[in-house]
Amino acid sequence: MDKIAIFPGSFDPYTRGHHDIVCRGLNIFDKIIVAIGYNSQKERYFDIYQMKDHIRSAFNKKDPVEVIDYDQLTATLAKSYGAKYLLRGLRNTTDFEYENSISQLNRYLNQELETVFLITSPNYASISSSIIREVHKYGGDITDFLPYQI
Ligand code: ADP
Repeated sequence: MDKIAIFPGSFDPYTRGHHDIVCRGLNIFDKIIVAIGYNSQKERYFDIYQMKDHIRSAFNKKDPVEVIDYDQLTATLAKSYGAKYLLRGLRNTTDFEYENSISQLNRYLNQELETVFLITSPNYASISSSIIREVHKYGGDITDFLPYQI
């Protein structure tokens, strides 16, 4: 049976750090679904539909990667896609603290779900979507941090 993983996140924007995790994940999983969590109460900085196109453009057409948006529990989304794995990246201990509790919760909600963590490559460890948004807001050049052209 195919090993399908969901890579959930806000991806506002999707960065080279995220891309590194998905590319490395493709050595482990048969298919990865990049799932942009959408919260109608929370305004995004980058348009979600454009971000979906940007993420798709970072991959080859043949890559087993699907890009979707969702507004439900990640554990429920995984079930509906037949995905038994959640893929997450770990940059530091702050990520670990958060990811630890969220992964326990996800497994409580969906007993078949395992979260798989990849440690960030050192080159990308300092990249965060929030810092990139800040730089962009004040007119800075963010192209080096993104795996696509904006
Ligand atoms: P959220 O804030 O909703 O968790 P993010 O888009 O910030 O979504 O992150 C999605 C996942 O990618 C998380 O597992 C996060 O730890 C990971 N991640 C974020 N930035 C990086 C990076 N620079 N390198 C590796 N993983 C990262």
